[in-house]
Amino acid sequence: MRSTESLPVVEHYIAGQEIAGSGGMQDVFDPATGVAAGRVRMADRATVEQAVAAASAAAPDWAATPPQRRARIMFRFRELLERRADDICRIVTNEHGKVLNDARGELQRGIEVVEYACGIAELLKGEHSREAGPGIDSWSELQPLGVVAGITPFNFPVMVPMWMYPLAICCGNAFVLKPSERDPGASLLIAKLLQEAGLPDGVFNVINGGREAVEALLDDQRVQAVSFVGSTPVAESIYRRATAAGKRVQALGGAKNHALVLPDADLEAAADALMGAAYGSCGQRCMAISVAVTVGEETGNQLVDLLQKRIADLKVGPGADNSNDMGPLVSKESLERIHGYIGQGLEQGAELAVDGRDLTVPGNEGGFFLGACLFDRVQPEMTIYRDEIFGPVLCVVRAENFDQAIGLVNDHEYGNGAALFTRDGEAARNFSNHVRIGMVGINVALPVPVASQSFGGWKRSLFGDHYAYGPDAVRFYTRRKTMTQRWLRRKDDDPSGPQFSFPS
Ligand code: NAD
Repeated sequence: MRSTESLPVVEHYIAGQEIAGSGGMQDVFDPATGVAAGRVRMADRATVEQAVAAASAAAPDWAATPPQRRARIMFRFRELLERRADDICRIVTNEHGKVLNDARGELQRGIEVVEYACGIAELLKGEHSREAGPGIDSWSELQPLGVVAGITPFNFPVMVPMWMYPLAICCGNAFVLKPSERDPGASLLIAKLLQEAGLPDGVFNVINGGREAVEALLDDQRVQAVSFVGSTPVAESIYRRATAAGKRVQALGGAKNHALVLPDADLEAAADALMGAAYGSCGQRCMAISVAVTVGEETGNQLVDLLQKRIADLKVGPGADNSNDMGPLVSKESLERIHGYIGQGLEQGAELAVDGRDLTVPGNEGGFFLGACLFDRVQPEMTIYRDEIFGPVLCVVRAENFDQAIGLVNDHEYGNGAALFTRDGEAARNFSNHVRIGMVGINVALPVPVASQSFGGWKRSLFGDHYAYGPDAVRFYTRRKTMTQRWLRRKDDDPSGPQFSFPS
């Protein structure tokens, strides 16, 4: 086996400097070749301690910095993101595997959150009640929490951290980011760009690592709030541990997003939309459509036929080549896990209408590639229907009627996104009113909210009360303080003596 010791290392970034810290190292793979292309430091408790200390030291001055000045740094940061977009996307593709254009799309959605955060002076304005009583004014303002932490998944190494730190920082907090150890490179470059934009040292810190680093963050009394995005079991355990420690927590988890296709839908358009939503980024999106519920036998037959034809034209290969539609999976473990699911689907009686397992990519035989897979006649009790597979596997479930189809969505443990394809306005209203899902699309397969809205799921897709980014993030990263102030106009305004009934 080849030694990886000479490979470039992704370090931590603490108080404006790259720091090696005292933990170990782990390999970072290029999924297109299957070969280790770099290494990443794995923070131990002492390194986390150092990062939180740096954030704590920077927090008071930063909280006292006028919001407009914080916004000015974000404006500069936004320009740097545009200027360095190619470098950022190249790192994402090299470590995650997704096609460069897809990485550019992820960066763009992140930039939109930065743009929203540039309006922080307006967002933090607070509310005022003049003459709440004689000579009394009352107002509320949103104050920063102090040190807040973000823990993020591998699948959007740029965008998901951007759901968190631009608004957390603009609200006046200091931030510690723990990105995924599988694709950590972009976060280090981002930290340098924030510094170049003028962010004071210590306001944004990055620690790399895994469970040990996360637990150290959760246990640290100085960390006031935790934003987590990742799989549901980890989200739930982080939510429990951090709330028990008295922290504010938002923990976004996994998903099994359904798209319902009604007989009156434009089936060609629905099939096009489903291709991108199911197989884009190799199915590794929390909003990916992994279940298509067709209503009526004929709708099912036609849709499966249209999908099969499109899958035959799907180009799979290295993400560095923009002519590919789909890159590799992130890791060998993911590839093996998904092969396991396909085996289970077959054992449990689903029909594998398209089998992507024997795909080879010439010149990249060692890469973690899996071709698009399409299961038909999947039943709700099957493992491939219940579990989040997080790969290029689309399950078609055939429903007899619309009510049965909505029931499937509502009964599933996850509640992130759902889409409906129809030409019927009444059906669309019925669906959006009654579906137990956080983000709903009507003839839109990936209803990822724009930056001025907020992102989050229902049921076991989100633990906590706040969605990510948008107005919810401003609430999450601030604490409301309400003042009541009285100035007597003249001495004789003063009521006579003490009053013991409740002031009204
Ligand atoms: P993951 O849960 O394995 O890891 C997420 C983060 O948690 C990483 O930083 C990882 O280092 C850390 N972590 C992993 N195991 C841990 C443990 N036992 N204790 C503490 N920390 C731990 O998720 P992933 O594989 O990186 O990402 C894919 C998952 O993320 C999918 O389930 C996907 O649906 C979900 N996701 C959800 C959303 C959403 O908005 N709901 C968005 C993106 C991804």
